[in-house]
Amino acid sequence: MSGTSPEAVVKDQYKPCPACGEGIRLTALKCRICGEDLVAYAEKLDAATEKTFFHGHPAILPGVGHFAWVVLTLGLAWLGYFYRSRSVTYIITSHRIVVETGLLSKRRRNLELYRVDDLELDRPFLQRLLGCGTVILHSSDRDQPILALRGVEDADLLFEKLRDCAKSERSRAGIKTLTEA
Ligand SMILES: [Zn+2]
Repeated sequence: MSGTSPEAVVKDQYKPCPACGEGIRLTALKCRICGEDLVAYAEKLDAATEKTFFHGHPAILPGVGHFAWVVLTLGLAWLGYFYRSRSVTYIITSHRIVVETGLLSKRRRNLELYRVDDLELDRPFLQRLLGCGTVILHSSDRDQPILALRGVEDADLLFEKLRDCAKSERSRAGIKTLTEA
């Protein structure tokens, strides 16, 4: 039983190529039949799958000023802020941003990420203490060229994700230029 090291066993195993379906080595990085780069192919598939990053409302009290008003009005302002927060729903995915406004009659707006030209992150020091921030998107969308996602938690993380996704969505859509942020 010589020559059957674990490496040799793996080398002799085959899998179907995800692009053409022909049998190729388990360890192959490139398909010997169709020539597909398997790493690039997996990345393409991953980018094509829509993932939801956030589905919910903006923070009720996104800033320290809001806290101050709640204290000053003995809690009354909180009701107003609560109502305002609940009347907005953000659905943020790797492909698009949907903003629903209104509690009873809802208005739905949709921004495809491939239309996003530039992103800004607004995190004033006091908002940062509360873990909130605003992500501002500049896009070629005619109805809303500027969309601000206000009072979102982990705003810097969301900003990074949206920047990466806007870039890959643009290349998927065949648009080359994106202002480097
Ligand atoms: Zn193949």
